[in-house]
Amino acid sequence: MGQPAQHYVGRFAPSPTGPLHFGSLVAAVASYLDARASGGLWLLRIEDVDAPRTVPGAAEGILATLARFGFEWDGVPVWQCGRDEAYAAALERLAAAGHVFPCACTRREIADSALARDGAHIYPGTCRDGLPPGRDARAWRVRVAGSVVSFDDAVQGPQHEDLAVEVGDFVVRRADGLFAYQLAVVVDDAEAGVSHVVRGADLLDSTGRQIHLQRLLGAPVPRYAHVPVVINAAGEKLSKQTLAAAVDTVPPEAALLAALAFLGQNPPDELAGAPLAELWRWAIANWSLARVPATRQALLPQGM
Ligand code: GLU
Repeated sequence: MGQPAQHYVGRFAPSPTGPLHFGSLVAAVASYLDARASGGLWLLRIEDVDAPRTVPGAAEGILATLARFGFEWDGVPVWQCGRDEAYAAALERLAAAGHVFPCACTRREIADSALARDGAHIYPGTCRDGLPPGRDARAWRVRVAGSVVSFDDAVQGPQHEDLAVEVGDFVVRRADGLFAYQLAVVVDDAEAGVSHVVRGADLLDSTGRQIHLQRLLGAPVPRYAHVPVVINAAGEKLSKQTLAAAVDTVPPEAALLAALAFLGQNPPDELAGAPLAELWRWAIANWSLARVPATRQALLPQGM
């Protein structure tokens, strides 16, 4: 008999490219509340697999900010930078089954092919049946032929993607030798037993690729919920590149209330001025994924 099975395992997986801004706070709050309201676990993963984009000290800063907001995570955070062996093992399994192939194409050589939804180029298939003579492998790509992915996003509704038409064979190991985010996230979520992924809607277009890899690796497909991405007045996603302000510059109570309002949770006026612990109690007790707006993006609230 023993312990009851833990059915809900959620996570927040920030990339340490800068300080936590209001957009990442929204993803953290949504994933945290959905996990806690379900009596589930909430894990943290530092997504520093893309080493060149990692800013020294940013991960520690994000963890400190999350602690200051009163987030309580389960276990110790996982850092992708120490997990190359797990990614290599997954790639080997894909290779042994013939699902991946080496690719010699440079960015320039595929620059003429059509654009995918996320702005990347759809791979034209040049090396799919073998490297052209005299060319060396640069990256590794996974075959997508015939893979049509459908899933019901808990916020954005039914999604459908024909990977061969809309993405093409995609990179799982990059030309610089680093493992691609798409592979790392699938390996990490599977190993941690993540059952529910709640994150920003900018990743909705990555989900088909991740489900494809889950199928090939025999990993369970989590339940997905993509919450609106926060954009600034210029219509840009908040990020270091768009000079998003660190959420640390506003009192955590005010930022949390703004995040709850952004997520459609309608915090009552009486909560203004309430201490953090009371805000969290209210937010967990009243969390409703059904109230999160089913839009891909929404405007940064004033003052954030
Ligand atoms: N590391 C990604 C980001 O910060 C999130 C990846 C995920 O949640 O799957 O945008």
